[in-house]
Amino acid sequence: MIEYVTPFFRPPSEHKSFILQATIGCSHNNCTYCAMYRKKTQKFRVRPMSEIKEIIDTASRNGLLERRVFIADGNALVLSTAKLIEIMNYLDEKSLGLERITMYANVGDILRKSIEDLILLRENGLGMVYIGFESGDDVVLERIKKGANFSETVEASRKLKASGIINSVMVLLGIGGKDRSREHALATGKLLTECDPEYVGALSLQLRPGAPIYEQWKEGLFELPDKFQMIEELETIVENTELSDSYFYSNHISNYLPVRARFPQEKGRVLKEIKEVLKTRDEASLRPDYYRDVVNQY
Ligand code: SF4
Repeated sequence: MIEYVTPFFRPPSEHKSFILQATIGCSHNNCTYCAMYRKKTQKFRVRPMSEIKEIIDTASRNGLLERRVFIADGNALVLSTAKLIEIMNYLDEKSLGLERITMYANVGDILRKSIEDLILLRENGLGMVYIGFESGDDVVLERIKKGANFSETVEASRKLKASGIINSVMVLLGIGGKDRSREHALATGKLLTECDPEYVGALSLQLRPGAPIYEQWKEGLFELPDKFQMIEELETIVENTELSDSYFYSNHISNYLPVRARFPQEKGRVLKEIKEVLKTRDEASLRPDYYRDVVNQY
């Protein structure tokens, strides 16, 4: 039996992947909006290699290593290159040939690796990493304790491109609060343009008990933009984002307005859709709050 430390998380697009929990928790665990790894049992640690291999053996025996593997938890790229290669080679040995291996990564994890290391990881199976950019605004990034600024994020993205690892990034509507809403959206569009990732997912901030920002909100220190302000942010981000050949989504469950577009060819179409919603301000065209599992939006 495979024992997971719970709760564990994976991107929605990894719902069919086998989740290999090689690390527990997140080595950063400091972002103010994040409540994912706050339990004592989730304190950051690396599983011993013997345990990781036992999990892979069990998964293999049960036919779970068929197509895709997501290496969890919060930022498995924190592991040394040698360790990751050993894990991926063992996965390769025990599977019938995997389509792809992916994981979450922090900007700092990427910057700490050389391009040669990243190329080695790609050659040994790492196809894509998911990074939470959240914002391009350095004031916001500092406030939310993201641990990476605009220029570091651009540098990490360039290293990924140079190594051939696909970059799937998340940005967070509402994370600038009401006071930095416009700056957040403008700088986020600029950051996405400079980084030119292959995938962009825009999510909307949800205030979760356990996350420091939730306490700030309760004390009146953080004001969450309302639903149409979040859509205005989406509009500004799309307007200011130029991507050479990418997919842009806002279809995450947290969003009021799901959009999907291939950039650059569908940018105009999606912008028109967003502008139409902002013109009519018809709530019926938005995803209902109960569906978004919202703690509080106002
Ligand atoms: S958002 Fe990501 S990097 Fe930040 S604390 Fe949560 S898991 Fe760690």
